[in-house]
Amino acid sequence: MRFLVLSDIHSNGTALDAVLVAAKGRWEKAVCLGDVVGYGPDPNEVIARVREVATVFVRGNHDKAVSRPASGDDLNPLAKAAVDWTRAQLRPEYLKFLEDLPPGPVTADSIALVHGAYNDEDEYVFSPAQALSGLLEASLPVTFFGHTHFQGGFSYRGDRLEVIQLKVHPGAGFAALRIEAGTRYLLNPGSIGQPRDGDARAAFAIADIDHGVVEFWRVPYDIAAVQERMKKVGLPEPLVLRIAFGR
Ligand code: ZN
Repeated sequence: MRFLVLSDIHSNGTALDAVLVAAKGRWEKAVCLGDVVGYGPDPNEVIARVREVATVFVRGNHDKAVSRPASGDDLNPLAKAAVDWTRAQLRPEYLKFLEDLPPGPVTADSIALVHGAYNDEDEYVFSPAQALSGLLEASLPVTFFGHTHFQGGFSYRGDRLEVIQLKVHPGAGFAALRIEAGTRYLLNPGSIGQPRDGDARAAFAIADIDHGVVEFWRVPYDIAAVQERMKKVGLPEPLVLRIAFGR
């Protein structure tokens, strides 16, 4: 089974379209690690599109904050402003879709899916120390997570925990990681709609666990077009600026 792994789309329809074009014909089942909405200008369009494509979802903290307002109190003021704007735009059926999304962990055949840490959807996994419990507790050897918007991850074998850092060179499309038997992985496909690892291109992954390969992809998209739409609807200026830097 070849999985298309989508995460942190954050209402960026242009980035999602670029990802689906690049991934066309390369996957059999699409999964989504949450944060479908928040930050970007296209919440209704993105939900409509991702529901056509993905069959397994976990919810993200922004999905939760939009559909369950009391849960968004710990968001920073900019994120909160985007959450409130998103809630006001959404069609009722899409608000219900977000409300019904399950928290992780969820399994999809041979992979496990979470939004943040393995047992806490709101916790960020940036460091090996933060990754360790998930690597040990996950029900399957390969777990995908999102939330940090950093592409890469962690592996654990014997008593060695290693950080997986990848560099997708301009024009290369993807960097491949070989999945070894007997090793456990916590892998982040990166963010489609708001990367923060210093590379502004949309990020996603294609995982072929049967053949032991995960491809970490980056694709360019029309960032200026998204910034124009964000300005037009009055989303906060810092959110408009940051997508150009991937920070
Ligand atoms: Zn996110």
